[in-house]
Amino acid sequence: MNNIIVSSCLLGNNCKYNGGNNFKPELTLLSKKYHLIPFCPEVMGGLSTPRVPAEIRGKKVINQNQIDVTEAYLKGANLCLELAKKNNCQYAILKSKSPSCGFGLIYDGSFTKKAIKGNGITADLLYKNGIVILNENNYSQKL
Ligand code: SF4
Repeated sequence: MNNIIVSSCLLGNNCKYNGGNNFKPELTLLSKKYHLIPFCPEVMGGLSTPRVPAEIRGKKVINQNQIDVTEAYLKGANLCLELAKKNNCQYAILKSKSPSCGFGLIYDGSFTKKAIKGNGITADLLYKNGIVILNENNYSQKL
């Protein structure tokens, strides 16, 4: 059975910045065919839940209190890549628009819900290492 990394919040874990989740019940059906590995890069990077929301600004990740949290995001991304490699993951299903998990579109750093082209820190690192990045809306086209 192939292994797939999945954003932990999509599987119902309360690791979102506000203490909630982004549960996508249909995703759990994939566990009949794949071994799903839940992972939250922000929590694994050392951030607490709940936490102050953050967005990417240039090459940095800045939270709404104007604190630079880039280091925690990089740590979480590297741990996620390590886990994906250890488990030979070909795919990752990551929550769209997140500053960690978003792929193709992210919020613009102004905390006004305006999306721009770009990748979250973890999604970008996994992608650059050959992992196919899917999200909660398009995964069924591939899997
Ligand atoms: Fe979900 Fe990713 Fe945000 Fe964690 S970092 S709460 S897995 S979107």
